Amino acid sequence: MEAKYVCSYCDQTLNVGKDIVLVAKNDVGEKGLIMLHAELGNYTSKFSPGFSLIEGDLINFSCPICKHKLTNRKNEKLANFIHIDENEKKFDIVISAIYGEKCTYKIEEHEVIETFGDHWARYQNPDWFLLF
Ligand SMILES: [Zn+2]
Repeated sequence: MEAKYVCSYCDQTLNVGKDIVLVAKNDVGEKGLIMLHAELGNYTSKFSPGFSLIEGDLINFSCPICKHKLTNRKNEKLANFIHIDENEKKFDIVISAIYGEKCTYKIEEHEVIETFGDHWARYQNPDWFLLF
């Protein structure tokens, strides 16, 4: 099976090849599409034309299929979705919702098993990941 990312609410696939496609809303309420690189720790992103984000913007991510907010229930500065790897193993993925903040957490059974990005230490201790 091919690795994929799915929405925690509707279970639909969020990636097209190497891009995770999400709906994003920036600080001034503008909406657009954002494509995040599917490789964890790769912070390259693309936007739909006319949509922009500036460093420090709190992005409001939502699922393009069911429209559910992907904001972490304990911390609005984080967002989450699910990764299913090629062996059909399921992980929770938590990313920063602050544009320019590089931190990603891979969680298995309520435990952070891998971190990515220069800013991973910013959300080290809180118990946000216990909520899944
Ligand atoms: Zn969804």
